[in-house]
Amino acid sequence: MSRLYDLQKFCRDQRDWLLETIESLVRLESPTTDKSAVDRCGAELASRLQAIGGRVTRLSRPDRGDHLLTEFGCGTSQILLLGHFDTVWPVGQLDRMPLTRADGRLRGPGVFDMKAGIAIGMLATRALLETGTPVARRIVMLWTTDEEIGSATSRAAIEDEARRSDAVFVLEPSLPGGAVKTSRKGCGGYQVVVRGVSAHAGIEPQKGASAVQELAHQILRINALQDLARGISVNVVQVSGGLRSNVIPDEAHATVDVRVPSAAAAAEIDAAFRALRPVDERTRVESSGGMDRPPLERTADVERLYERASDIARVLGHPLDEGGTGGGSDGNFTAALGVPTLDGLGAIGDGAHALHEYVDIESLPDRAALIAGLIAGLKD
Ligand SMILES: [Zn+2]
Repeated sequence: MSRLYDLQKFCRDQRDWLLETIESLVRLESPTTDKSAVDRCGAELASRLQAIGGRVTRLSRPDRGDHLLTEFGCGTSQILLLGHFDTVWPVGQLDRMPLTRADGRLRGPGVFDMKAGIAIGMLATRALLETGTPVARRIVMLWTTDEEIGSATSRAAIEDEARRSDAVFVLEPSLPGGAVKTSRKGCGGYQVVVRGVSAHAGIEPQKGASAVQELAHQILRINALQDLARGISVNVVQVSGGLRSNVIPDEAHATVDVRVPSAAAAAEIDAAFRALRPVDERTRVESSGGMDRPPLERTADVERLYERASDIARVLGHPLDEGGTGGGSDGNFTAALGVPTLDGLGAIGDGAHALHEYVDIESLPDRAALIAGLIAGLKD
């Protein structure tokens, strides 16, 4: 086990490099929808990746920041480190959430979700290369720029790299206290459109078939699909319909948020939406939508990766817990392909998407050692 201690010592010795790397990324604010800002952060990240020996490829995107694909080492198979450098914070948020180190915490917009995670992955890689630890596989990092809005321009690249990988380590924030994420719900949404028959509400109401009334029936059916005991949540989150006060409405719309724990539950909910039929047969009900991110299920592969991580963490002196979350990440895509995926391996801290966002400074180097150990442990 001395190799793990070598990695740990290296990472602890590089604590200042790690903090400086995180801070340089946080200083370059990178809200998903501001391509030039995201690309400025990406340029800094690319030069730092090159500086530690990475072969960087920019995956250009016209409307989003360019994604960065980086390879280290050689070998016919690969391990994928996955994450994103876009954040939910607008440019200027640094004035409201200044970058500070105090009370053992590093604060700043996007520090926890997830610029610290990127730096942790970089330090883990440096540790392996610079201590001469044998690694049988290529290390591939894919740092994307649109995770916070659903990964439309990165999903294909994520899935391509995942298919080539023996395992995917997602450096998204950990759960409170440092636990990794061994399950994530799938998330999706449906749009329901009801078409009825309009009529004058005062002169000949009998000729009308109200789309709003029909939608009300449908909403009760849709909400009845929720089954919290099974981890299925179904919520109508937006409704609209009707034109003016004296017209029986001929159109109504609803938007529905859906979270499911398994592919089977996703199929069940999907079938229920396709099967919606009107109560008033003069109206029509149409639904569209589906899962944006499939669930990350705690399969035997996921469990094996967690056990391996947990063994390494114990040697490093930190028991590693696991847990689940209702929120999705790009790990949902890779896990759904059947590629062993462990998520939430990034920084320990709190306040993702919140004003109190921070990472716990002391835990960062050992987190990098954990990732390094995981990568090195995956030998044939
Ligand atoms: Zn994130």
